[in-house]
Amino acid sequence: MSNDPRTRLGLRPVINVSGTMTSLGASIVVPEAVAAMTEILPHFVEINDLQRKASTVIARLTGGEAGFVTASCAAGISLAVAGAITGPDLLAIERLPDVAPARNEVLVQMGHVVSYGAPVDQSIRLAGGKVVMIGQATSTHRYHMENAINERTAAAVYVVSHHVVDYGLLHLSEFIEIAHARGVPVIVDAASEYDLKTFLAAGADTALYSGHKFLGGPTTGIVAGRKEMVRNTFLQNMGIGRGMKVGKESIFGVMAALEAWENRDHEGIRARESGYLSLWREALKDRAGVTALIEPDPTQNPLDRLRVIVDPREAHITAWDLAAALRAGSPPIIVRDHEAEHNYFYLDPCNLHPGEEVVVAERLTAELDKARASNEIIATPIENLSRHRFDGMLRWPD
Ligand SMILES: *Cc1c(COP(=O)(O)O)cnc(C)c1O
Repeated sequence: MSNDPRTRLGLRPVINVSGTMTSLGASIVVPEAVAAMTEILPHFVEINDLQRKASTVIARLTGGEAGFVTASCAAGISLAVAGAITGPDLLAIERLPDVAPARNEVLVQMGHVVSYGAPVDQSIRLAGGKVVMIGQATSTHRYHMENAINERTAAAVYVVSHHVVDYGLLHLSEFIEIAHARGVPVIVDAASEYDLKTFLAAGADTALYSGHKFLGGPTTGIVAGRKEMVRNTFLQNMGIGRGMKVGKESIFGVMAALEAWENRDHEGIRARESGYLSLWREALKDRAGVTALIEPDPTQNPLDRLRVIVDPREAHITAWDLAAALRAGSPPIIVRDHEAEHNYFYLDPCNLHPGEEVVVAERLTAELDKARASNEIIATPIENLSRHRFDGMLRWPD
C-alpha cells in the first residue's frame, strides 16, 4: 500500500462496501483492462476501425448484431434516443437537440424515472427527446402505453435497476410487445446488470451497459443491439456524442474487460463473496439491536448482500448514524445506505480487495460497541440529513 496514490494526494483510503458507485470510482478495474489501456496509449489508431473491432466483441458477448463504446451508460441513453430520432440523417444529427419535424416523443414508465446520480429523463431530453411518462409511480398498464403511442413516438426506454419501482409496472416482455406492435424501438438501460444477453434476447432493439460496473472495465458505456439502431446511435458521434467521446484506451480497455468476462471465474467470485457475508453475519451475531440477513440482489444479478437492520433503542444508534460513523472513521467504510431511513443498510461484497472484509467487520463491531456504551441513543433527526445532503457539493471545490 506504500505506493497507494491516495496517500500521496491526501485522499482518504475508502473501503467500498456500497457496490459500484460512480462517486467512489466505480469498480476495481480488471488487470486485463489495465494492461490493454497501457498497451494502446502510445499508439495512433483509426478510431472508427477500433470501434469496429469493439463491435465484434460486443456482438459476441451480448448476442446483438453490433455495438460500440461511448462515455457511459447515461451517454448511451442520450445517443440511443438521438439515433431513434434522427435515423441516419446527418443534418438532423447536427441540429440536435432541435428536432423538426417533431418525431421525438420517448415513452418511459413513471416508475422508471429514477436518479442514477442524475435523472433518467434528463438523458432523454439532452438528445432532443420529449419525455412522455406513462402510468403512475406504482402502476403502468397496457392501456397507458398503447394510448401513448402516436406518429410522433420515436422510442420507448425501459430501465432495469434496483432504484425503479419493483411492482405494478409493465414487464419487459409486455413493454416490447406493445412497442413493436406499433413499430417503436425499445432501448433498455441495463447499466448495472450482469447478464449481457437477456435483454436483447427478449427482443430489445438496443441494450446499454456500463463498462465500469460488473465488467470491471474503464469508465465507459456499451451500446449493443440491432445493427441499424446501433449505427444510427454511433453516427451521433458527429453530433451530441462529441462531448461524450471515449479515447482509444477506453475502447480497447473495455474490449479487454469483455474478453476477461468470458473467462472470469464467476463461481469462484461468488464463493469468495459468500465468505465475506458469512464473516460479517457472524461478527454481528448476538449483538443487541442488530439483525443481519443475507439477501439476493433485487434485479436477479448473481450477488447477495448483507442487510444490517438496526434497532436504535437496543443498539443506541440509528442505521444512518452508524453509516455516517463508519464513513467518518479510519479507514472510512462506505456502506450501501440508500434506504437507511428505514433503519437498515447493506454491505455489498463485490468491490473489496482481499483482507478488507476483515477491516469492515472490525470497524462495524467497534462502532457498535461504542454506540452501545453511549448513555444516549445517537439519533440525528432524519430531516437534518436530507436538508444537508448537498452542502459539501455546493461548497466544492472548498
Ligand atoms: C449506473 C446506472 C446508470 C448510469 O451509468 P453510467 O455508465 O455511470 O453513466 C444508468 N442507469 C442505471 C440503471 C444505472 O444503474
